[in-house]
Amino acid sequence: MSELHELSATTIAERIADGSLRAADVTDAFLRRIETHDPQLHCFLEYFADRARQRAEAIDRDRQAGRQPGPLGGVPVALKDNLLLAEHVASCSSRILEGFRAPYSATVVERLEQQGAVLLGRTNMDEFGMGSSTEHSAFGPTHNPWALDRVPGGSSGGSAAAVAAGLCPLALGSDTGGSVRQPAAMCGIAGLKPTYGLLSRRGLVAYASSLDCVGVLARSCEDLALSLSVAGRDPGDATSRDRPTDVTRNTADGTDLSNLRIGLPRQCLDAGIDTAVKAVVDDALGVLQQLGAQLVPIELPHLEHAVSAYYLIAAAEASSNLARYDGVRFGRGAQSSSLEALYTNSRSAGFGGEVQLRILLGTFALQHGYHDEMYGQATRCRQLLRGDFRRAFESCDVIASPTSPVPAFALGSRTADPVAMYLCDALTVPTSLAGLPGLSLPCGFAHEASADGDATAQIQLPVGLQLTAPAWQELTLLQIGERFEQQTQWHQQRPELRQ
Ligand code: GLN
Repeated sequence: MSELHELSATTIAERIADGSLRAADVTDAFLRRIETHDPQLHCFLEYFADRARQRAEAIDRDRQAGRQPGPLGGVPVALKDNLLLAEHVASCSSRILEGFRAPYSATVVERLEQQGAVLLGRTNMDEFGMGSSTEHSAFGPTHNPWALDRVPGGSSGGSAAAVAAGLCPLALGSDTGGSVRQPAAMCGIAGLKPTYGLLSRRGLVAYASSLDCVGVLARSCEDLALSLSVAGRDPGDATSRDRPTDVTRNTADGTDLSNLRIGLPRQCLDAGIDTAVKAVVDDALGVLQQLGAQLVPIELPHLEHAVSAYYLIAAAEASSNLARYDGVRFGRGAQSSSLEALYTNSRSAGFGGEVQLRILLGTFALQHGYHDEMYGQATRCRQLLRGDFRRAFESCDVIASPTSPVPAFALGSRTADPVAMYLCDALTVPTSLAGLPGLSLPCGFAHEASADGDATAQIQLPVGLQLTAPAWQELTLLQIGERFEQQTQWHQQRPELRQ
């Protein structure tokens, strides 16, 4: 029998509902895993051991009293540190919000709890979601469970590494330009960025509001589908929409891929894709072809401008969203009554280097006289890219590419070069700019020489396949994903962790 931490979220929910497992035992098993392995990995900034145990016991008591737990009854879930949980700290891995306690819970977090989830803790991230490696956290980086000297990807690196290491079966993240899909790829798990508006943003700390999406991370598509039970319209987020179909009912059994047309954008080949990543993704496409799918070449002519447009728009929105952190209203300065403390906790003392860089870039791009030349140009580019996707979907059903052009890179290897870091997002930002749903699936491994000096030693680093669909077609993505999993079993691979 599998150990408790190896069970999927779906199995945990089913077995707690039928009485063959106790929520308290499941929660204990994951808390023990966190205690054993998190000191090495640093996925969590905080875990809520007592709160989680109490919640789990309440679920067990309710069940004994004959009340059925919700669809997520007893499933432990980790939250990225930019999602609010009432009365708990939400720091966005930033010094400026250190000690800030949320006055209310995010809608998705409230819904998780209403449906029976047990919240385990808050996970590490790049400060305010700005980064692709989780190295821009003010509280130190997270390590990739497949190779501890490598990054887990970012910005939801803590959530992705936690799922990959079996510290939780399910985690929420946020994806503005790839922050769920890219760390999922680098950690060898599945990650879904839904259509913009499917999951409420109320209580998600804003980075770039026209791009921000709450996303989900798990080991399988079945579990991703389960977590979408928190989707749907929320009066607290005017951009949220109802789920068009029952996205949670993901039954891949019998999914027939023989009419599926998978578009391959020619322009992706120019994105500096590592040869090992390309080979692994080509094999994955071969598997989908064997299952009956047809591969069709497509054009996304404006793809090459996506990274520039994204970084301008995201920085411009961030400079406006982050203006509220003036050292007075939030964070440590806000809790102090002395003027001196307010000054010493001023903005520059509170924000890390990358966040300051983005604010400067964004402020510059919005300056009088430059506005149209920079921000205006970027938004026009965004419209052109949306048009590219619309036309491409006339000849294909989904679009495939690698999720990240490179596998997990060494900690510290890109922090000095922001552009090298930004280029990691070349394949994920187009989907974000167009507001479309994107899924990253584990699809094999790239092998690299180990850094421990032994020339024959090799490490294996996960590679992700990204599938993008037209708006609101999450179900299509999850069904293809589940069929791919059944065929390949890549999602069953686990990293070996030392005690
Ligand atoms: N790496 C991108 C950025 O730094 C995307 C981050 C995200 O999706 N939050 O903006």
